[in-house]
Amino acid sequence: MSQKSPIKCIFSVDVEDWFHILDVQSTPELSEWESLPSHVEKNFRRLLDLFSEKKVSASCFFLGWIAEKYPDLVKEASDRGHEIASHGYSHKLVYQMTAEEFFNDAVKSRHIIENIVGRPVSGYRSAGFSTTVSTPWFFEKLIEAGYQYDSSVFPAPRGHGGLKTNDFAPYFVKGNERGIIEFPITVTKLFGKPLCFFGGGYLRLFPYFLIRNMTLKVLSEGRPAVFYVHPREIDPAHPRLPMNIIRRFKSYVNLSTTKGKISQILDDFEFATFESFVNDHPELTQGE
Ligand SMILES: [Zn+2]
Repeated sequence: MSQKSPIKCIFSVDVEDWFHILDVQSTPELSEWESLPSHVEKNFRRLLDLFSEKKVSASCFFLGWIAEKYPDLVKEASDRGHEIASHGYSHKLVYQMTAEEFFNDAVKSRHIIENIVGRPVSGYRSAGFSTTVSTPWFFEKLIEAGYQYDSSVFPAPRGHGGLKTNDFAPYFVKGNERGIIEFPITVTKLFGKPLCFFGGGYLRLFPYFLIRNMTLKVLSEGRPAVFYVHPREIDPAHPRLPMNIIRRFKSYVNLSTTKGKISQILDDFEFATFESFVNDHPELTQGE
């Protein structure tokens, strides 16, 4: 059963390790990361194998720290036909950085990743979708840092971040010199409330038929459905960070069934990368 639609979905991966869960007291500091056992190579390669099996190109947002440590992983993803983008360097929440710290972090990760793949990196996604009303400089700094598009706006309330907006479809943001395209994380309204069925805890929690129906609804509204996963989400055996019961549920529910769910999603829909979507939709840059 395959759903053909003129508007494609986008499948994205935030390439980071199991200890990069944000905003819990036990989140380790960057200085500790090196000493922790890593699971990212094994889990990300499992995702790459699944993408190969389904002949899907994904958009891979590499944390700069991961790219620096595992350059072969970045090269492999690029060689296997995926878009390589940036998830910043140090996985700090945007609203916990100054504009200058944010700019430096975004530039650093772009340079590291571009040096590995040998081509320009155009996309950015912030840690925890953490651009909010308290970071009004966000888009201007990303433009200055050399990015062409962003996918960090989460248009629904969430634990960290969330930006209240009715712009659910991709849109162009005008800057001082040039602009940038924003691909908000996909939400759709259920009982009047915007909800994201396409990544994180809800993707793992909800049954596949509901995710499929919500994806069809989004596509019928002329918007791409942007899915997002982390390599740790297909690995029920990864180590756990201590956290309260609510966060533990959100972070770890249904890890054992997520790979199967991703496989069904990849079977049922057609996918573009962010870059190919922009190429197919030149109207998105018409503000320039
Ligand atoms: Zn992240």
